[in-house]
Amino acid sequence: MDTFSHAAWGYAVLRWRGPKTARIGALTGAAPDLLYFIPSKIEQMAEKGWPALLLERRPGIWRIDGPPLPPDLIEAYNTYYVYTHSLVILALVLGVLALMGKHSWLWLGVPYLLHIIIDLPTHERYLTPIFYPLWDWKFIGISWSDPIIFWPNLIALVVVYSWIWKHYRTVN
Ligand SMILES: [Zn+2]
Repeated sequence: MDTFSHAAWGYAVLRWRGPKTARIGALTGAAPDLLYFIPSKIEQMAEKGWPALLLERRPGIWRIDGPPLPPDLIEAYNTYYVYTHSLVILALVLGVLALMGKHSWLWLGVPYLLHIIIDLPTHERYLTPIFYPLWDWKFIGISWSDPIIFWPNLIALVVVYSWIWKHYRTVN
């Protein structure tokens, strides 16, 4: 799914814990993408300078029949994406946080987990290796840019946010 939707779902899923936690939830919901995209952009900038920051429009890039993936995206996948989109790594991080007694932080695992679960069926390229590094299993889904995913997702967000707005506008 696109990073904006991940952030929106991250906010929605933690809204019941208050607006502040929900805002952190939005960031955590987007985190699996930010954590692979930002370091790889910094690396490219160190190599090529500021032009690396320009976001090229690459139509159809996420479709199975789209143009070939550029090398920088393939490198970002192998170096970062496989780690930031793994349930195994998430479980390890949450386990460490639990051992450290940071129990209130564990809620932030929910938007992160939701991101990985949503990505699994909505990628047909750049597949989400949920069991990495234990098992290389991947699922070929339908790209989030396909109208049969894109519009229902948008409608679901509008419905959920209308409810949130109605329900919480008088609470806090
Ligand atoms: Zn993702």
